[in-house]
Amino acid sequence: MGEDLERLKQRLPLLEYLQQHDWTGRPVGTGSEFVGLCPLHEETHPSFYVNPHKNLFYCHGCGRGGDLIRFLELSLHLSFRSSVAYLREQLTPSAQLLEHTAAFYQLQLSRHPEAVHYLLQRGLRDPAVIEELGIGFAPGGKLRAHLSDLGYSLELLLQTGLIGPQGSDAFCRRVIFPCRQNHRILNLYGRSIGTAFPHRLLPRSKGGLFAWESVRHCSHVILVEGLFDLAVLWQEGFRNTTCAIGTHLTPLQWDQLRDSQNRRVDIVFDQDDNQAGQQAALALAHRLHLAGLTARIVRLPAGQDPNSFFLAGARRADFIRCLEEAESP
Ligand SMILES: [Zn+2]
Repeated sequence: MGEDLERLKQRLPLLEYLQQHDWTGRPVGTGSEFVGLCPLHEETHPSFYVNPHKNLFYCHGCGRGGDLIRFLELSLHLSFRSSVAYLREQLTPSAQLLEHTAAFYQLQLSRHPEAVHYLLQRGLRDPAVIEELGIGFAPGGKLRAHLSDLGYSLELLLQTGLIGPQGSDAFCRRVIFPCRQNHRILNLYGRSIGTAFPHRLLPRSKGGLFAWESVRHCSHVILVEGLFDLAVLWQEGFRNTTCAIGTHLTPLQWDQLRDSQNRRVDIVFDQDDNQAGQQAALALAHRLHLAGLTARIVRLPAGQDPNSFFLAGARRADFIRCLEEAESP
């Protein structure tokens, strides 16, 4: 195990991991160390040192230090065992494959006016939000060749479901949202811009709540059904919005939502004609109450979801009013 762990850490050096996650450090001394802002605590003066030869870090601000496993434990709030599992998963071909796929799709977005037009039609116009969410476009028919050029085997492409049994791209004419958890892509969600079935995920876990890392610290969380609901609410400044991709929460998503007792959850599911969204919201609110959390149901005009609400001309203040009028069941 010890030697195995050493090898694992060498395969993904600490400095490389940090740089992949947007940490920037400048060389100090003879260049044997790097210093930058600490990713583990708030600071304005850099006190986080990385020694690439020893593969270790130390922060003079918060006094914490160690190897990559320790860093994962601290930054992702994982146990030692889960950190090792996370690291192993990071190095699997399928994790890298999904990263390459998402990057490819992201590049395609600006090259396909019909995709940009679709986003505008859905009320999504802020380039910063589109970029931050990593939204891309799958034109269909180009991915397989691209991934083969990168050296991925057809077997792996079939296994992840990116390529269908007939050998063609699984996502065709779809706007793509990468579903990340702890900065790792677990799945891809594709929204059809044509006549095909609207929603599609790869045949694997949908992961936790969308963008949970950026929302989990909020004492007030807005939970929506769809990723376009989330994108439009983020655009309007409601950055405490997360999404379950559907109304059914996976056990992981449920655990995340109730990991803090002080949290208030405002549920904004679709106002469906057949009452499906309203009933799901009610059931979830009850369940959250039983778990000791404050949950409220936000009502929008009949037939609407947060996305269509804004498309119909609502403004930020209108949505705030809906939040204020939310009721506990
Ligand atoms: Zn620190």
